[in-house]
Amino acid sequence: MFRPGMKGNTVNTSPTASAAMTSATAALLESLACASTDPQDRAHASTDRSGYVSPSVPDGVVFAESIDDVAQTMRRASELGVQVVPRGAGSGLAGGAAAHAGQVVLDVSRMNRILHIDPVEQIAVVEPGVVNAAVNAAVAEHGLFYAPDPASTAICSIGGNIATNAGGMWCAKYGVTRESILALRVVLPDGRILDTGRGTIKGVTGYDLNALMIGSEGTLGIVVEAKLRLRPRPVHTATLVAYFPDVAAAAQAASAIIAARVQPSVLELMDGQTLAAVDAAQGSDHAVRGGAFLLAQTDGYGAYLEQEVLVEAIRPYASSMEQAADAEHAGALMAARRAAIPSVEELGRVSICDVGVPRNRLAEAFAGLDAIAAKTGVRIFTVAHAADGNLHPMIVVEPHESITEGPAKEALGEMFHLAKGLGGTLTGEHGVGLLKRDWLQAELGDTSLELQHAIRDVFNPRGLLNPGKAI
Ligand SMILES: Cc1cc2nc3c(=O)[nH]c(=O)nc-3n(C[C@H](O)[C@H](O)[C@H](O)COP(=O)(O)OP(=O)(O)OC[C@H]3O[C@@H](n4cnc5c(N)ncnc54)[C@H](O)[C@@H]3O)c2cc1C
Repeated sequence: MFRPGMKGNTVNTSPTASAAMTSATAALLESLACASTDPQDRAHASTDRSGYVSPSVPDGVVFAESIDDVAQTMRRASELGVQVVPRGAGSGLAGGAAAHAGQVVLDVSRMNRILHIDPVEQIAVVEPGVVNAAVNAAVAEHGLFYAPDPASTAICSIGGNIATNAGGMWCAKYGVTRESILALRVVLPDGRILDTGRGTIKGVTGYDLNALMIGSEGTLGIVVEAKLRLRPRPVHTATLVAYFPDVAAAAQAASAIIAARVQPSVLELMDGQTLAAVDAAQGSDHAVRGGAFLLAQTDGYGAYLEQEVLVEAIRPYASSMEQAADAEHAGALMAARRAAIPSVEELGRVSICDVGVPRNRLAEAFAGLDAIAAKTGVRIFTVAHAADGNLHPMIVVEPHESITEGPAKEALGEMFHLAKGLGGTLTGEHGVGLLKRDWLQAELGDTSLELQHAIRDVFNPRGLLNPGKAI
């Protein structure tokens, strides 16, 4: 049953709480099991990992535990005209799950069961709140893996990954989330259930609503179940790191790997500032070995043959290379890349950006980022999924400075124009959310935006589901 101020036993005591809950949200929350108006729950749901914090907190949070809970919430919300913001693990970097006063958050993190693993068909059926890493831990014993592996694998949910079409290191070879989702069960804004996709690898009946749902950032429906495509774990994995005099040389090496028509399963680049930040936080010594770092993996039966081609491609640019002798050594090299974001986060307030450029223009992108740092006065540390041309420039400002206004916002806008000028995109994998809508029109154009609004209105005609986000 609804308990006002569950845990805290008070409502609206947070300094940023709305003066009074609307009668519609109060009626919604009173009618639902597992609804909370605890100030801490509400404050938590007003933000995500982007650093954006809503100016006020949402009226309540519904902690759904079943598809019925989600359907009932959406039916009632639709009857009462209440805005609902879906939420997974809250690790998003675009403000997509952040809610404000007058809204209710539908948190599906307690729907976190792995329902079924079929090792023969190489499929898993999961609830949306399952943490990404938990899927890989569960399927590993069957000799399988789930390919989309965001750096946030330990703290993000499969539902959130689907809503943002998340990517990760292995996406260089195996594709982003969209390539690994066979079917979905979705609750629509009016509470109806929609099944999309199918259980087969191929299938083209009707429009592809499954693909449409993936990356829709919670604006079309709430993912309540997903059928995941798994893959056989590679028999061999060959890992190396290479150091370069500077980031331009590392970027040229990454482009040379692509041009050599070898297919790395991982190709991660870190610039010199980021290496220094990792060293400072982890006590490692990468920065003395070079001004940039490239981590490359090849996998499958031909892993070591492919690695030979890769080594020849980067030899003209690299100052040194280190090949992993065994799995433990490879794990240590991978850990350096995984440490990049937490290490930079120790330096100040961080906005993690996400532009994409054609893979042969990475060096120009890095040069452009240096120019943006000089022009705006912010510090920029960059890692990149180099095989996808997807850069994560991390803007670092002082802890008291804003990441959504002033120089940080100016730098974000400049990054978009840089990427666009190079034939690229505003966001490779984090989504538009709330924080990048200013540049949507410039990338999509009027016709595309008009059609996208029309599609959203078919699913979400009253705009009650995650309003003001994504498009
Ligand atoms: C340290 C760090 C590293 C990261 N690395 C990567 C990376 O390598 N690649 C990458 O792609 N991202 C990365 N991210 C970003 C983030 O982890 C991803 O965007 C992730 O997919 C968000 O999942 P979540 O469960 O936390 O979603 P949330 O933050 O809760 O929500 C994100 C969006 O999805 C919607 N949503 C959530 N669940 C559902 C659902 N069940 N149905 C419908 N809509 C829903 C929300 O409304 C919101 O719009 C990183 C984040 C951090 C903090």
